[in-house]
Amino acid sequence: MLRDKYEVIIGLEVHAELSTKTKIFCSCPTEFGAEPNTHVCPICMAMPGTLSVLNEKVVEYAVKAGLATNCEISRDSKNDRKNYFYPDLPKAYQISQYDKPLCEHGYVEIDTEEGKKKIRLTRIHIEEDAGKLNHDEFSGGSLVDLNRAGVPLIEIVSEPDIRSSEEAESYLRKLKSILEYIEVSDCKMQEGSLRADVNVSVRKKGDTKLGTRTEMKNMNSFRSITRAIEYEVDRQIDVIEDGGKVEQETLRWDEVSGKTFSMRDKEDAQDYRYFPDPDLVAIKLSEEYIENIKKTLPELPESRKQRYLEKYKLSEKDANIITASKYLSDLFEGATKICNNPKAVNNWIISDISRILNETEMDPIEIPFDSKQLAKLIILIDKGTISSKLAKKVLVEMFEHPRDPEDIIDEKGWVQISDEGAIKDVVLKILEANPQSVSDYKGGKDKALGYLVGQAMKETRGKANPQMLNKMFLEELKK
Ligand code: ADP
Ligand code: ZN
Ligand code: MG
Repeated sequence: MLRDKYEVIIGLEVHAELSTKTKIFCSCPTEFGAEPNTHVCPICMAMPGTLSVLNEKVVEYAVKAGLATNCEISRDSKNDRKNYFYPDLPKAYQISQYDKPLCEHGYVEIDTEEGKKKIRLTRIHIEEDAGKLNHDEFSGGSLVDLNRAGVPLIEIVSEPDIRSSEEAESYLRKLKSILEYIEVSDCKMQEGSLRADVNVSVRKKGDTKLGTRTEMKNMNSFRSITRAIEYEVDRQIDVIEDGGKVEQETLRWDEVSGKTFSMRDKEDAQDYRYFPDPDLVAIKLSEEYIENIKKTLPELPESRKQRYLEKYKLSEKDANIITASKYLSDLFEGATKICNNPKAVNNWIISDISRILNETEMDPIEIPFDSKQLAKLIILIDKGTISSKLAKKVLVEMFEHPRDPEDIIDEKGWVQISDEGAIKDVVLKILEANPQSVSDYKGGKDKALGYLVGQAMKETRGKANPQMLNKMFLEELKK
């Protein structure tokens, strides 16, 4: 195959919106989803004469991200202006960091088929987000919303160490989970809190020089990233095989046609005319400051996983799935603490909850019930109040109209029948109605019991306690 002659090279620039309460250079809120231009002030609208002041939380969060990804933290850093013109950028420059980023030389470890692999990080720097252009169907023009202007970002730049779309996905998932664990970003990809610029090139196997790369900007779903990389690799190989040269350019991925399109030539750093922002002071960090942030780092996914393997005896595969997301992991720990049944919590998360998340394309952070409610559901099954079959229906309700499982069961009348007298009535009724099955059973056909239990379940619309039914049928049949 043609592909086998080539090596794929990928480097990602990941932007994560930080979950600070206020913007990076003013005190406007960062909250997503407000009415356009309601979270703005003269500073983030770039009125002349305004002065930016750096939000210290932004530095703290970026340092935290750097420490969690094995970076060296710069003691001496600064902000620079990156100049370009675009209608969503009222200052006509973005405040970013150029030659002195806050964090450098880190790495993130991913699992590959050949074992663990380190993806090196070139740098992590802080910068401000731009506003947003909304196309207006009424006037045919575009309207600018500056709520996002000045929302703090970290940009995490990887070395070109990634060798396939699978590795790109696993790197991004790992990075997302680390940022979630340290609580510096909510990483909601649909809202654009986490997005990646994907740089792709190919070279003939054995070549030591990197090929020319193309860049696809602002990708925010794992699926499109994978598809876009696959498409782009094939396209570049075709160009080279036809005797052509890959152009260095910025591409747009089109989800509908499944193709990339040329947007513009790639800018070089010199096009941006970077220079230090004269309004902002240098960022000098003391050893003590960095040490104090180090102390606030929580337990990270790898360590939680080890704990789950040893303490709760989860399988490696299940522990991987659960710890990959902080929210699933918190759900697991919270529910286990209350119901004391790690096996059941594990099973619910891995099977039914994961299936619903997949089907509804929901991110774990959006699960509408909490660990207490999941624990209550499991306790209700353990006590025999509901069967596990009905519990699956309760779970669906908890996703659709979140409330306590007891309330759902009460409202729907889904309580399991575990009352001896009531069960006995059903058993006697079914025995009387099915004399043939009774004599079959007595004649040695064990299967007849299953049929009788089935009939009793039908009669009670699935609400009878199956263990009790079984036991009572056996007692009656022995008489
Ligand atoms: P910018 O895109 O802003 O000019 P850089 O020059 O720092 O920034 O590179 C951005 C990204 O491109 C990095 O993640 C880097 O690993 C990746 N990259 C650089 N060269 C290549 C290449 N030949 N193939 C694939 N990725 C590359
Ligand atoms: Zn503002
Ligand atoms: Mg780039």
